[in-house]
This record gives sequence, structure tokens and C-alpha cells, in this order.
Amino acid sequence: MNDEERNFFKNTILPMISTLDDEQATRYLVQKGVFGQNIRCPKMVNNQQCQEILQVVPCQYKTEKMALKCIEHPRNLISIRFGSLFSSSKLNVRELITYLWNFSSGEQNEVISQYTGRSRQTVQALNKKIRLLQKEVIDEETRNPSLGGPGKVVAVDETCIGHRQKNHVGRVGKTRWAFGLVDTSYKPARGIVREVERRDAATLQALIRRHVLPGTTIHSDCWRAYTGVELIPGLAHRQVNHQLNFVDPNTGVHTQHIESYWAKLKHPWKKQKGVHKQSTEEYLNHRMWLDRYGGSGMKTFLNLLTLIS
Ligand SMILES: [Zn+2]
Repeated sequence: MNDEERNFFKNTILPMISTLDDEQATRYLVQKGVFGQNIRCPKMVNNQQCQEILQVVPCQYKTEKMALKCIEHPRNLISIRFGSLFSSSKLNVRELITYLWNFSSGEQNEVISQYTGRSRQTVQALNKKIRLLQKEVIDEETRNPSLGGPGKVVAVDETCIGHRQKNHVGRVGKTRWAFGLVDTSYKPARGIVREVERRDAATLQALIRRHVLPGTTIHSDCWRAYTGVELIPGLAHRQVNHQLNFVDPNTGVHTQHIESYWAKLKHPWKKQKGVHKQSTEEYLNHRMWLDRYGGSGMKTFLNLLTLIS
């Protein structure tokens, strides 16, 4: 989130959210499908689940102003959150909306924690649930080749994403690498990034074959693992020698797209002083989801609501 967006949130959105009453806030999340969308009645009748689609009704249910009701069992109200991503969350609806807005704008956990009044652990637990959904979407969208195509350019590169933990003799561990493929026909560029064990030809070219559509021109630097990319059926290959210049004066080939992609990818890492090994994949999936569904604060927020509905 840039300063302008942050100020907009603080001065406009946050005061608006705090004036919502619980029923309005809940109704908004119901409208967006976050709560109460196609939820089936869980009640067991003669050893079979009722399965009736539950209706959303305004009423006082524990601390909430809406609940779910089954037409077959109208006296048996169910929490409006039943069956949603937030079924066990302690956040009230206004805090949830505040959380979702800040998550969608990439705000840091400490800041989200301040705005919602909830602990960092609570925020992290919610992040984890959402990132799992983002992973499912990205897995689906990248199962088949999805980048480039006739006349398009995909820039590829590897980048250092930190070091393995120090070993027992205190030496800094092996460098960790990520490999990125960036379709430059989208603005902002749309990428696929994976952590790789090795940055050799077998590993990197397998990822190129897997993710790039025929007809694409691959742009890379002169790292030796890229030798032979031109032999992959359906692909052309142009290289720029970084030791000589960043833009090849003869071919115009450059890798600025991917350089700026790396800068964007690593920006939050710099602030948080690196990420843990186990959360790298989560973060990369989050980044890839943002390439596809992010944008202005409002666009990302609405796409996030669609994701969790
Ligand atoms: Zn029922």
C-alpha cells in the first residue's frame, strides 16, 4: 500500500467501517457471499444430513444480528458464519472488514493488528487461510501452460531469496533461489515464481516448458542454464549479456520487466527482514494471485471477497 492509499484508508474507509452497525456490516458480507452462501443444513435427521439450503434471517443470535435458518427446522438457528472461512474467528464483522481491506492492500501484520485490535497471531492465522485459497487458484491457473503465446515475450530470471539457516558450525547456509517467468504483455507483468533447489538447465528449462505457450519469445540473460532454450519446440530465445549492458543495443532485448518484478516481489521481504522457509511458497502464491487479481485497493478488495465467498 502506498501513502496515498494508506491515508485514504485511515481517513475515509476506516471511519466509514466504524460507523457501520453490525447488521449492515453482516449484510454486506452476506451480499458478497462471504457469509451464508449456499450453506446446507447440517442437522442430522434419521442418520442423514438434512442438506436443505439455509436462509439468511435478521435476528439476534448470540452477539450477531443475523443468523441462518432451515425451513425444515425453523426453531434451530445457526450462526451466520457457519460454513464460511471465518466460522471460528473471534473478529466481529467490522474487524473482519477492516482485516480484509488491509490484507488486500498488502499491509503488514503489525499494522493490521493495530487497526483490528487483534494479536499478530490471530492476523497470521487468518492470512494462512486466505493464502491457502490463493494457492488453490494459482495451482489451477498454472496447471497448464499459461504465459506468453504467439508474438508475446516471457522474460525469465533467477534471483537469490536468502540463505538456508546457519548449520551447526555456524556457517551461513546455501543460497536459496527462486526462478521467475514474467509475461510482459500484461500491465503490470504477470508472473510465475517458484523456489528451485538448483538453477541448472534441467530445472529451469523444465519450468519453461511447463508454463510457456508455443509461439513465445523467451528473454533471458546469459546464465548457462539458458543455453538451449531456443531448441525447445515452439519457442524463440533472445539473450542480453549483462556483463556488457542491460539492454542489448542490437536486439533491444532487456530484462527490465523481470528486474522490476523482483523488486516488487522482494519489497515486503526487505521490510520484514526476510521470510521463513515454510512461508516462502505461501508468499509466492500470494504474489502471483496479486498479479492476476490485484490492482487498485478497491479492485483487490472485491476480488478477495470473491475468492473467499
Ligand atoms: Zn434442516
